[in-house]
Amino acid sequence: MRLKQFQLGSVFGIPLIIDYSWPPIALLHVWFVSRFWLVAEVQPPLPLWHNLIIGSVITAVFFASVLIHELSHALVARTDGIRIQDIQLHIFGGWARLIGEPPTPMAELRIAVAGPVSSFLLAAFFWLWLLIVERLGDESTAAQAASASFLYLTAANFFLATFNLLPGLPLDGGRALRAILWQRRKDILSATRTTMKLGVWLAYLLISYGVLQLTSSVMRGKFWQDFTAAVWLLVLGVFLKSAAENDYRYRERHSASERMRQDDGNLPDMSGTVGAVMRSPAVSVSPELSVAEFIDQILAAHHHTHFPVARDGRLHGVLSLERLREEPREKWKRLTVGEVMKPIDESLFITVRASVDHARRKLKMNNLGFLAVIDQDGLLIGHLNAKDLEEAVSTTPSKSLR
Ligand SMILES: [Zn+2]
Repeated sequence: MRLKQFQLGSVFGIPLIIDYSWPPIALLHVWFVSRFWLVAEVQPPLPLWHNLIIGSVITAVFFASVLIHELSHALVARTDGIRIQDIQLHIFGGWARLIGEPPTPMAELRIAVAGPVSSFLLAAFFWLWLLIVERLGDESTAAQAASASFLYLTAANFFLATFNLLPGLPLDGGRALRAILWQRRKDILSATRTTMKLGVWLAYLLISYGVLQLTSSVMRGKFWQDFTAAVWLLVLGVFLKSAAENDYRYRERHSASERMRQDDGNLPDMSGTVGAVMRSPAVSVSPELSVAEFIDQILAAHHHTHFPVARDGRLHGVLSLERLREEPREKWKRLTVGEVMKPIDESLFITVRASVDHARRKLKMNNLGFLAVIDQDGLLIGHLNAKDLEEAVSTTPSKSLR
């Protein structure tokens, strides 16, 4: 089941998405901090509404810290040329969703540790404020509330960093470990398998701990405080386990399509499909490239009439030489490929599993005689033109074409 989400705004051009599972957890957090943390730390106790206000401020600053953690992942990823789909806040904190995968183990390592590093820095920042407030030696309830808040934020950020560094997928520590194993073994799938297993073990540990807490809280009668935390732990464990497994499944699918790319689409079950007749890998062009650069660097090496335009494997459009010829030569330096391409629409691409007949119809329809080919994840893996298709079909035994 997928809960709905809404967009709150954007930071550095990255959409900030709030999952509907987030508001309840934020309210629960306000309640927990006001009712338990501040009551224990501030003597004599403040009125409840004071605690609720301070609790709301602590909650807001805490989730801002989570946001900074996710932004750090996202901004480091961006410097490695990866686009960011969005940042989501949900019941377990946050999630920066990247489009495409880190290109190298080092890039993955940098992106993974950026989050925990920022959380450690935030913990140090709040700790400094805690020291300053304590230095003042003020015994008033206001000073106590301030130091309780800074202590909480220090601990919360420290916990966020440490927990995320646990070495199992999908946690940051798991991604960092995968990057190291990937570098050593030169095999991302095997690195993913190891860190996924560690992640599943960590999830089981959390679940067991949650069960233990749950039983002891019921037995000691301290129902609400521990019970809520225990249930949250349990759900977190289940969530982490499925996320670790999903990550692996995604990788497995991804490398299956990579293998297909390397095999030039000649897998036995591809007969009669686009996969069997396409040209792979695709020679693609980035939309930011200037037309002059395109002509010097790409066209000089590849004598095609059409080029898929893509970034991070995602198709943006198709560039045709015919269309390019309409542009006067003196504009080539200023114009980018993105400005002269035919922007993406349904008629420009086809999936690798589509039938050859379907491809033939589409080739006629789009008046280009060219199609980009994408895999089941929507990533560009090849291309096809009318001439290639007819040649491939005439050299393939006809019985394999249904
Ligand atoms: Zn993180």
